[in-house]
This record gives sequence, C-alpha cells and structure tokens, in this order.
Amino acid sequence: METLPAARAAAQDALAVLRGRRLAVLTGAGISTDSGIPDYRGPDSPPRNPMTYQQFVGDEGFRRHYWARNHVGWQHVNRTTPNAGHRALVRLEEAGVVTGIITQNVDLLHEDAGSRNVIDLHGRYDRVICLQCGRVISREHLAQRLDALNPGFVESVAGDVADIEIAPDADAVIERTAHFRPAPCEFCGGILKPEIVYFGENVPRERVDRAFALVDDADALLVAGSSLTVMSGLRFVRRAAKNGQPVVIINRGPTRGDDLATVKLDTGTSETLTAIADALT
Ligand SMILES: [Zn+2]
Repeated sequence: METLPAARAAAQDALAVLRGRRLAVLTGAGISTDSGIPDYRGPDSPPRNPMTYQQFVGDEGFRRHYWARNHVGWQHVNRTTPNAGHRALVRLEEAGVVTGIITQNVDLLHEDAGSRNVIDLHGRYDRVICLQCGRVISREHLAQRLDALNPGFVESVAGDVADIEIAPDADAVIERTAHFRPAPCEFCGGILKPEIVYFGENVPRERVDRAFALVDDADALLVAGSSLTVMSGLRFVRRAAKNGQPVVIINRGPTRGDDLATVKLDTGTSETLTAIADALT
C-alpha cells in the first residue's frame, strides 16, 4: 500500500514513542475492515445485539437459527484475505520490533498474513467444540456435515445478498432458517458450538495469563483497530499503563482507553501501520 502523507505525518507522534521499544500489539475488528469484515462497533456501524452464551446453550430454536446463519457467514470469512495492516505487523515481527499479537478477532487473518506469535483471545472461527465431551473438530469438517444435512441451503440464500449480513463472528443474518438442521456431536450427540468466546462467557484463564505475560515482557503496547468496548481488551491497556509502559492507540473514533493512551491516532490501521513499519523496519 502507498503510504499517504497524512498517515506518515500522523505516525510521527506514535513513532516518537515506539522507536527503540519492543512492542506488544492488541488488535480488534477495525484492523479487519479493509479485508471486508465489517466492524460492528465502529463509528459508522449500526447498533447490534450480540448473541450471548446463555441464549446459545438455552434455546434450541436459537441454535438452529444461529447455525444456519453461521453456515453462510463462515464461508464469507473463510474467503477473506489479510490487508496492509496485517502485513505491516508481520514485517514488524520479523524485524524484532513486535514480540507478539493479542487479537480480539476470530478471523485468523494475522496467521494467514504470516504473524507467528498470535494469541487468539476470543477463539477462532475455524474450530468447533462439543459442550458435552469437549472434542474439537474443524469448521471445515462441520461444513461438510451441515451441507449433507441441508442440501442446497447455502445455494438457496447465497444469491440473496440483501438478506445476508456478514458479521465479524461469521454470523450472517438470514430469515429463512426455520427448517435448518444443525449437526450434533458425532461422538456423543452433544451440542456443538464455535470455539469462540461469546458475551457472557469468560476467556480461558490460561489464555488471559499468556496475554498479560506478553504485555509485561514488552516495552510498550500498540493498540490497532479496537474501541476497547469490552473489558477483555481494555484490561491490557490498564495493565500497560499500570506497568508504566507507553500506550499508542490507532483507532477511528473514541475508545475506552483514550485517557490512558500516551498517543491516540484517529486514523485507519492499514495506512498507519504501514507507515510505522516503513519507519521501524
Ligand atoms: Zn461430544
């Protein structure tokens, strides 16, 4: 990507803080919008009621609706590719500047781009777990089972673009889901759930501890594309601030961490991270 003069100028403030430091990075939905995955918390986004864990486990009709939508949305996320922001973070890691990435995204675009040390804080869209026996299967494998149980379903809604709304968690809004047949666990018959952390669910402790350790071991924290709306992300900004580490936030629109930021850039992640990588690698 061509670095815009405005992005280069904005990045100067951040570079004054970041230069010579090893960086932990926290990313959110904003870094993936340039890959075609909408950010439902971004400044231009419609309000959205996220699904809760309690809804998912407590209501069979809700689960049927969820899996029907997910079966379409998954295919969309599976086709997305990393953008310049993801690639800039790869360059920074290869140069020894970035020590690792904590991401709130489940789209795996950091891994696809080539980042090596990534903590998928909220899980990943390509895995499914059985809530009864705990076995984990691939989303690809489940897709084959769902296709067999629901022949023609994806094709029947795929052309109806107006009816399909793609969300970051591979959720897609479709109305015609009443006859969709979800797949039970093939080993024990239990309920299958995407291996994604939903509202009302906690991030596994071991994963949180690894993320805190990544922040503690770095010299500064760089936040890219997160409004830090939920505590699962905000706590790392608070940790860095408590450690006395500088915090740089790149996000379009306000964030809950702005008062803790050393530098806040209200700019796009693709061009700003590219400018930072150009300067530091
Ligand atoms: Zn099972």
